[in-house]
Parts: sequence; C-alpha cells; structure tokens
Amino acid sequence: MGLEEKLPSGVLLSTVEGLAGYARKGSLWPATFGLACCAIEMMASGAGRYDLARFGMEVFRASPRQADLMIVAGRVSQKMAPILRQIYDQMPGPKWVLAMGACSSSGGMFNNYAIVQGVDHVVPVDIYLPGCPPRPEMLIDALMKLHDQIGDTKLGANRDREVVELERAALVAPHSSEMKGLLR
Ligand code: SF4
Repeated sequence: MGLEEKLPSGVLLSTVEGLAGYARKGSLWPATFGLACCAIEMMASGAGRYDLARFGMEVFRASPRQADLMIVAGRVSQKMAPILRQIYDQMPGPKWVLAMGACSSSGGMFNNYAIVQGVDHVVPVDIYLPGCPPRPEMLIDALMKLHDQIGDTKLGANRDREVVELERAALVAPHSSEMKGLLR
C-alpha cells in the first residue's frame, strides 16, 4: 500500500496500526461462494442461530471487488482452481483467506488427480480450519483467531521488519515431513 510504506516507524505508526487493525477486523466482508458440503455449515453460520452479523460480517458480497475475505468452503477441483485464483486476484487488498475444512486445507479424503491437495497451492492461506465438516462454532472460532491476527498486523517499516523475521523463521523451520504428529 503506497501510503503505508511512507509512514515513519514509532509512536505514530503504532497508533495508526492499532486503529487500522481495529477497523479492518471489525468489517470483514466475505466473498459469496461455496465449493462443497462445508459451504452448508458456512451458510448456517450466517443464519439466525449463529448470526455472523454479530462480528460485522453479515454481508457476503456477490462481487469479489467488494470482498476482503475468501472462505474456501469445500474441496477445490483442478477445474475450479484457476477460477478460484481469478476471484482472489479480483479482490482488493488487504485480503485474507480461510481454508475451511479438511478438503480445502489438505485435499482431505480425496487423495486423487481431480482434487487440489490443499488450496494453499493456489492462494496464500492465513488460517486453516480442520474438520469434516467444521461446525459453525468452529468457523466462528477460526474467524475470531483471524480477527486477532488482523488486529496485530503491522504497517510500513514495522511490516517490512516483520516480513524479514518471518522469512528467516520459515527458512530454519523443520520440513513438514519431519514434524512429529500424534500418529508418530
Ligand atoms: S471437509 Fe468434509 S464436509 Fe468439507 S468439503 Fe470435504 S468432505 Fe465435505
């Protein structure tokens, strides 16, 4: 962002960061689309019982130009991947992606040639939500965690420093095939 890059670091930037984070996290507008069964739970989250409107995001936008959150709800087929990427590219920045469910996070049970094995092969993912399907409560919990992430986002010089630190940490992190999970 042009203006953000020109902001000096220090007290002023910290204050602007706090205000921008507060405004951004309280006004997320998701793009309207669902890919498979997970989308039913996403729709339920917006309805009266769970009421996403409580978090300032009742407006699922029909145009990607008006959306800043992509909830990838369901498996992503190879055919759908370029369309999903096009929608992401049409969304104005700053924008965020939530991979909802096992299928969009990792391909889930569909380990085959037709399904992308994780939507992070197509767009950068900010938060992964496990489950098949995740309940609306789980989606709301993931959104709250994403809100925290957005609220803590740095701007300008602070953001540049944060990116360098994150890249350094990623380079020394163990490869995912070496990570010890519950099954090892
Ligand atoms: S994670 Fe489960 S509920 Fe969600 S799209 Fe895949 S199979 Fe359907």
